[in-house]
Amino acid sequence: MKKLTTAFLAAAAMTLGFAARGAVYHFDTSGAPKLAAWTDTKLRPVVEQWYPRICSLLQEPGFKPPEEVKFCYREDRQMRGIPAWTMGNAIWLNRQWFEGNLEGEAIGCVVHEMVHVAQAYRRGRHPAPSWVQEGIADYVRWFLYEPYSHGARPNFRNQRTRYDNSYRTTAHFLNYVELKYGGGNTPIYRRLNAAARNAAYSDEFWKVATGKDVAALDAEWKQAFARPPRDELRGRAVRKADAPKRESQEKKDR
Ligand SMILES: [Zn+2]
Repeated sequence: MKKLTTAFLAAAAMTLGFAARGAVYHFDTSGAPKLAAWTDTKLRPVVEQWYPRICSLLQEPGFKPPEEVKFCYREDRQMRGIPAWTMGNAIWLNRQWFEGNLEGEAIGCVVHEMVHVAQAYRRGRHPAPSWVQEGIADYVRWFLYEPYSHGARPNFRNQRTRYDNSYRTTAHFLNYVELKYGGGNTPIYRRLNAAARNAAYSDEFWKVATGKDVAALDAEWKQAFARPPRDELRGRAVRKADAPKRESQEKKDR
């Protein structure tokens, strides 16, 4: 018991220390001089505020997130057209893509990548499915960092929309599950992330977390956001538009 308490206190002290101190950030803009001012005035403040926040959202007793994060710009051809990626604690940013998206998705994209740094998944014998990893990154980005942008609504009319479509579709599913079944001491996304981080994810996770298997959750999530088919909506709109006319016609008739 004493041992446990000491370990717990040590873990808590580590987390607190990190929160107070933050991490060390390196921004290498040598490959992107045009982005230097933007990186310093727009990106850096978000990084300094959100990396510690992400680490705390995904905290787990005994786990220590990287305390140093590196950002560097690379040419589009080196990035093979991909906007950004993360290797360990280094985030590579596509110079051309960033130059074209400063007013759009640039910062949100970095928030997504910082989640990967904080996830720090080990590559074990049972690596986390990538849809879990990417879904959590987009959940943090679209629902916690920029919820006002509503950037993650899937097309529910598409028959192929599923909880494991990854990225923003999975993010939308996670948000639904969190709102409907969350509310305990530890959010469901945090437990999911811990399972993935420890190479312990299986579909059984959903049953334990919500009492329902993932196929049932998938079905009710889609049901909750289903809309009547377009023709029916059009029919309803026509009937609504007709209604006042008919009424005024009736008044005239009287
Ligand atoms: Zn990603």
